[in-house]
Amino acid sequence: MLPLVALVGRPNVGKSTLFNALTRSRDALVHDQPGVTRDRHYGVCRPLELRPFAVVDTGGIAGEDEGLAGATARQARAAAEEADLVLFIVDGREGASALDDDILRWLRKTARPTLLVVNKTDGIDVQAALNDFARYGFSDRVAISSAHRTGIDQLIAEVLKRL
Ligand code: GDP
Ligand code: MG
Repeated sequence: MLPLVALVGRPNVGKSTLFNALTRSRDALVHDQPGVTRDRHYGVCRPLELRPFAVVDTGGIAGEDEGLAGATARQARAAAEEADLVLFIVDGREGASALDDDILRWLRKTARPTLLVVNKTDGIDVQAALNDFARYGFSDRVAISSAHRTGIDQLIAEVLKRL
């Protein structure tokens, strides 16, 4: 079985776009509307001449406890709990939000190894975007742009170091 990497983050940070960039597929639903990815989507990242790993794209993890949002949140949590590594995806344009804080608090409880991935760093000051998340206390942070496919090779290298 391949090691499993879970993409976790609040709606609209670019999880599905990253899933597509890693798996080079169009399986994930990418949409401008927050929270559109309701199911768990599994794919495989097969980096050239490197070890393959499985990737799961999750919906919003910080949902309510009832209804569709609750079911989505439960699925996302289950995906993160079974993962060998969690990529905690945040939005470098918007900076840290209360919802990111909630997710981080929950992630700490799961105690899964976690890498902070700052997405949407195209056309902005990357260092400033990284600094905005410094208080989260991750020694390793990777800046990427899923949409422009920048930083993806470095991200894959960082993932493989931890699998
Ligand atoms: P999800 O809800 O976390 O799965 O987010 P999506 O992958 O559906 O992306 C939400 C929106 O952000 C879409 O409009 C994407 O085109 C946009 N987006 C995703 N990644 C990037 C990026 O690296 N840069 C920019 N500028 N936009 C992005
Ligand atoms: Mg999505």
